[in-house]
Amino acid sequence: MMPTPPPPAEVVDLRSDTVTKPTAGMRRAMAEAEVGDDVYAEDPTTTALEERVADLFGAEAALFVPSGTMGNQIGMRLVCEPGQEVLCDADAHVVTYEMGAAAAIFGISTRTVVSDGGRLDAAQLIEQVRPRDNWHLTATAAIAVENTHNRGGGLVQPLDQLQALWNWSRQAGVAVHLDGARIWNASVASGVDLATYGRLADTASVCFSKGLGTPVGSVLLGSAERIATGRLWRKRLGGGMRQVGVLAAACLYALDHHLPRLHEDHEHAQLLGKRMGVDPASVETNMVVLDDVNAPVVAEAAKAQDVLVSQVSARKLRLVTHLDVDRAGIDRAADVLTELLDR
Ligand SMILES: *Cc1c(COP(=O)(O)O)cnc(C)c1O
Repeated sequence: MMPTPPPPAEVVDLRSDTVTKPTAGMRRAMAEAEVGDDVYAEDPTTTALEERVADLFGAEAALFVPSGTMGNQIGMRLVCEPGQEVLCDADAHVVTYEMGAAAAIFGISTRTVVSDGGRLDAAQLIEQVRPRDNWHLTATAAIAVENTHNRGGGLVQPLDQLQALWNWSRQAGVAVHLDGARIWNASVASGVDLATYGRLADTASVCFSKGLGTPVGSVLLGSAERIATGRLWRKRLGGGMRQVGVLAAACLYALDHHLPRLHEDHEHAQLLGKRMGVDPASVETNMVVLDDVNAPVVAEAAKAQDVLVSQVSARKLRLVTHLDVDRAGIDRAADVLTELLDR
């Protein structure tokens, strides 16, 4: 008799928290969603989501958009005119992963400042701001802040720095845009509530397709006036969607069922970091960064054992915990990776 082969190991995919698949409960909520034509503002589920998210962040209004990139780009356009600039960190998502959209679509110039691993230093940015009423200088209309910081390994921006930037921005007439793709993780890790983060930005984009585990969707927040203009930009960009309540229902479901469990991803990241010998203080949310490794070689060898990780650079790997990786998956990934790194 042939020996029974071992069951195929499940893939542990730690490349990103975007790889999650909708759960059975989420799919049910999507299937049962009440819908209408949202371009006519007649989709009750989408309207309910927009109102709920606006409330959570203490914003006047909200707009459902198909991606965080669209949320960020419209958000920045609402606070910056063509020919003006947005100032941000050199590793910010808005200038790294959004395909030059601010320039390509809106004629917005971006200028970057190299920060300490993504950590916000208000004074460092403020020093670089250029005035509006000068005949020689590109005016800085807005500063974009990312919380948590993606390339910064999921770091949570210090509240005192966010507050300092906000206080300064009010008297300076410079707007603040928050790229809050993972603001949920920041809030869970820091204990700072979402409304506090929301109060410290003129426009903010928050994602549901990362830690909250929906297939699609982000929400842009701002004043009622700005969000009304944002609705025009969304349509211009081809982001006006019709019976989109099927997607908004997934987001409402995620607020009820996935936000309360987000701390588990942080606990898993701590466990994984500990097994990998990483400084626990560097694991603030759901990401573990492995420095000084032969990234392509380790990533390839791990993949051969069904553990997927992402290469940030030639010497750096990133592991992201999420809804679809349980404790057993974390243990297996740690077993595989520690064995590879010990070689
Ligand atoms: C993922 C992400 C976004 C948005 O990405 P989309 O793929 O366009 O939804 C924006 N900012 C940060 C920091 C992100 O990690």
